[in-house]
Amino acid sequence: MKKILLIFVVGISAYACATVPLTGRSQLSLVSSGEIQPLVNEEYSKVIKESKVVNGTSEGQRVLKVGNKMAKAVEKYLISEGYSDLVKEFNWEFNLLESADVNAWCMPGGKVAFYTGIMAVAKDEAGVAVVMGHEIAHAVAAHARERMSTGLVTNFGVGVLSTAIGQNPSLTQNILLQSVGIGSELGMLSFSRKHELEADEMGLIFMAMAGYDPRQAPIFWERMNAQGGQAPPEFLSTHPGPANRIAKLNSQMPEALKYYKP
Ligand SMILES: [Zn+2]
Repeated sequence: MKKILLIFVVGISAYACATVPLTGRSQLSLVSSGEIQPLVNEEYSKVIKESKVVNGTSEGQRVLKVGNKMAKAVEKYLISEGYSDLVKEFNWEFNLLESADVNAWCMPGGKVAFYTGIMAVAKDEAGVAVVMGHEIAHAVAAHARERMSTGLVTNFGVGVLSTAIGQNPSLTQNILLQSVGIGSELGMLSFSRKHELEADEMGLIFMAMAGYDPRQAPIFWERMNAQGGQAPPEFLSTHPGPANRIAKLNSQMPEALKYYKP
């Protein structure tokens, strides 16, 4: 059964694959951003409405400044690399929310939230850029869409999918809703280790592109590591071990520095 499924998946992959910018990794892409985005936007608005937004503070302004600067640099790069269609899918939003959690996240389409609890660890603009680069990378690499696609295949099998995709939009949406568990914090679900390391790698280059010294990234992760405490969802708990992550970042530093023009 597994083998048959695999053959079908390979068959689907032929026309339902996407390529991750920068890393060039091929990924499963069974749902379109057009299908995901309205649900995501709804979920993001809900979170923002239920939270205390503190964009007006100096910390809030720092998040907005770094976010806008980085989004601009990343879009410029993506367009130059032929990813104009991907850029059209972004509708960036940056918000700083009042919460003691040491956390930040990004939903598909570039819907970013930082919690005030991470600002002391971020310390300065470069620190915010480390987190921002990582978060934006999850959106640019469409990690949520990939996770949903994998979830669809795993949970429903290819028979249902091939009928659903393209032919029956409402069925597709039903499958999608079940697969991601709408209402259970879409986009904030934990990513796999593979996705986390890829977000680190891309984020390092994104911060360099935006004019922030990528050598601040391992230093930030040391601060993050030192602060310990209970593990929040997007940082620490589901993430690669800190020593491993810092070693990886350092090995990618020469490549990132090529993009850094202070
Ligand atoms: Zn992450």
